[in-house]
This record gives sequence, C-alpha cells and structure tokens, in this order.
Amino acid sequence: MALPEAEAPSGKIVEAHDLCRRYGEGEAAVDALAGVTVDFPAGRFTAIMGPSGSGKSTLMHILAGLDRPTSGTVSIAGVQLTDLSDRELTQLRRDRVGFIFQTFNLLPVLNAEENILLPLSIAGRDPDREWFDRLIDTVGIRDRLTHRPAEMSGGQQQRVAVARALVSRPSVVFADEPSGNLDSKSSNDVLELLRHAVDDFGQTVVMVTHDAHAASFADRLLLLADGRIVHDGEAVTAEQALDLMKSVG
Ligand code: ADP
Ligand code: MG
Repeated sequence: MALPEAEAPSGKIVEAHDLCRRYGEGEAAVDALAGVTVDFPAGRFTAIMGPSGSGKSTLMHILAGLDRPTSGTVSIAGVQLTDLSDRELTQLRRDRVGFIFQTFNLLPVLNAEENILLPLSIAGRDPDREWFDRLIDTVGIRDRLTHRPAEMSGGQQQRVAVARALVSRPSVVFADEPSGNLDSKSSNDVLELLRHAVDDFGQTVVMVTHDAHAASFADRLLLLADGRIVHDGEAVTAEQALDLMKSVG
C-alpha cells in the first residue's frame, strides 16, 4: 500500500533554499544556520549528523515548520511555508508532517491506540482501519493497544510513536534522535521500522542523530558544522559515518 503522495512537481518533498537562522541580536547574536540549501526527494531516508551546536535541531524545526527562518525559504509538498499564516502552517503540519521525538511524547492518560489515533481525531478525520491495522502489525504492538505509556517499555512507547507519526500518511516524517533513549535492541527495532516505512510504504524520512550506527540505516548522510552543510552523500556504514564525523571535528 503506497502512500498517496502530494509532492512538488520536482519530486522533492521538502525543499529549502539559503536558510539562515539567527538567535539574539548584536554582539550576542548566534547564527545557528548560515545558508543551508538542501532538498529531500520522495521515498528516501536521510540522516543528519553534526557536532553539538552545529544547527541540527534548528534545521529540523525550520524544515518541519515548527520555527521560521530569519531568511531563506522552505517548501513541503510544493507549498512555501513562508507564505503561510500561523494557522495555515499548523494545518499543513497536521496534514503533511509526522514527528518522532527522542522522549516519545505520548499523552500519559491515553492508551496506545488513542495516542496513535490522536492526530487524526484532532484533524477531525476518520482513521483508515485497514491502514491502522497494517501499521499496528508492522510496529508489533497489537497486544499493547489498551496499555497506557506508563505500562509500556521505552521501546514499545517509541513504536507507538512511530505508528502515530505514520497514521496520517504524511508527506514527510521528521525524527529527532528517535533511538536516543533506547537500549540497543529497541533502538534497532525502531530504526528498522523507519527503514521499512521508506522501503515498503514509500515514506520520506529525515532523522537527526548523533549515533553513527543509527545513521547507517539511512540512504543518505548530511553533515552539519557551524550552521552549514559540509557533507552530503550516499549511504555509509557506521564506521564511515564515524570517520566523517571526526573529520568535521
Ligand atoms: P544542535 O541540535 O546541532 O546541537 P542547535 O540547532 O540546537 O544545534 O543549536 C545551534 C546553535 O544555536 C547553538 O550555538 C545554540 O546554542 C544556538 N541556539 C539554539 N537555540 C537557541 C535559542 N533558542 N536561543 C539562542 N541560541 C540558540
Ligand atoms: Mg539538537
């Protein structure tokens, strides 16, 4: 079952041009992004690495429409985010973007099924039960659907969060250190799920990670340093990712 794709005529799901993001003013100003031009084609899995403070989170937030650039443009599925009001931006995020956070961000009072369906409920959309069922089996939490987050392991919670990010069939899923809080077995499970979403569902995934092993699941590796892209290449092994990281300091 492929995702119905709204994409730009170019086939790029996300396009960013000359992004700059300055925090603060005057002498204390920090240029977290200093001119980033990058695009993300449909159905690819991209990992973004870089030293702490290099601008990874800033870039991710701006690409996902959670923050606005100081200058430069972003489009998702052909829609320029800069042209949108806050309300339109919220709607676009709801319809087109999925998020996976390091800390899962599930609502504690809702069970797994309610958490997964929450984005659709908020949007007033009915779930596609067939797609929901397929997702549940894919992430392997059918026997946990009535459990609340506190009754699940970290790995199970993150698998619920992956299903929640995929349930609306977004144009793109952004994942910020999705395996950062997990033991190595659960971490692998979640990374394999993301890989699976790309290979079998045609999902587009952009993942920030500091973990070279996590990056090795991706098709493409971007490296950031000082707010700029310093490497943009094909899939690498964990060792190659580590070497690249060392080379940027
Ligand atoms: P990374 O995710 O790669 O660690 P960030 O994008 O969080 O990097 O930060 C990039 C730079 O911007 C850092 O120097 C950081 O201190 C600065 N920065 C991030 N957020 C803010 C903020 N809200 N106010 C001021 N400076 C910030
Ligand atoms: Mg960060």
